[in-house]
Amino acid sequence: MSQIAQDTPPPPVVSDRHIDPHSYPDGIAFLDGQYLPMSQAKVSVLDWGFLHSDATYDTVHVWNGRFFRLDLHLDRFFGGLEKLRMTIPFDRDGIAEILHNCTALSGHRAAYVEMLCTRGASPSFSRDPRQAINRFMAFAVPFGSVANAEQLQRGLHVAISDKVRIPPASIDPAIKNYHWLDLVRGLYDAYDRGAETALILDFNGNVAEGPGFNVFRVKDGVLATPAIGVLPGITRRTVFDLCGEEGLTAKAADVSIASLKAADEVFITSTAGGIMPVTKVDGADIAGGKVGPITSRLMALYWQKHDDPAWSTEVHYP
Ligand SMILES: *Cc1c(COP(=O)(O)O)cnc(C)c1O
Repeated sequence: MSQIAQDTPPPPVVSDRHIDPHSYPDGIAFLDGQYLPMSQAKVSVLDWGFLHSDATYDTVHVWNGRFFRLDLHLDRFFGGLEKLRMTIPFDRDGIAEILHNCTALSGHRAAYVEMLCTRGASPSFSRDPRQAINRFMAFAVPFGSVANAEQLQRGLHVAISDKVRIPPASIDPAIKNYHWLDLVRGLYDAYDRGAETALILDFNGNVAEGPGFNVFRVKDGVLATPAIGVLPGITRRTVFDLCGEEGLTAKAADVSIASLKAADEVFITSTAGGIMPVTKVDGADIAGGKVGPITSRLMALYWQKHDDPAWSTEVHYP
């Protein structure tokens, strides 16, 4: 090493968080035909997925070593690819196998398993999306939930933000996507008001959805969830299926802010956490601040289905 180099102080460390492998969750990714530790799964800054949010994805979870409703997640993912005119070198079975391998290699019996495809980049940095080489990736990391254990017990505190979800005429909400600036701005509104998470509105001013979750309200034993401008969640769909089995009425319909606040029970739904109770909306108690009976019943049924072979598939660990 030269004298100059020895005498030169090292450059100031702004943040080494992004190069610290310990800052990555423990898990396995699939990228460019290889299975890698999460810390080595990197994408180019020139990828359209990064530069333009030009990507679609899906997340399925594994609980007790079993995928929950994997077929429905694959259907939605392939639907997104087709609508965005992306092509990948794997079919459904190929992707199912990659997701199985990521999970099995990770060893996680409770996992959050994501498949995603970005537009990719073109060698010439062309502005024509047709020139980009689409990129498929997948990973399995420990299961994560919108609500933590305490929040699941006592119910979440939610604020309704005035931010409007990107309208369906702009982005078909059935394409699961990373256009989250509306949702993230909603989250900051919620934090500013002392709430834990947010719901944002549809273009008519009714309640739409939150960051990665749908919402239901229960009134006089009838369930309703917003019909338009929301991602058709698989947990949302599962609530409809469970209601069918239980003889409960559930409908997709407009949910006004007033009707949400006047509900007997409110809960949110996501692969990241399942069915999660809400006991405060904009600072006011729902159902006297207690988790309601229909919410509790659906939560129990939801987790029971995770062992049912009709609703789940086993992961074979090495
Ligand atoms: C993923 C997601 C949901 C929840 O969908 P699930 O299939 O139940 O996980 C809801 N809204 C948005 C915007 C999402 O990205």
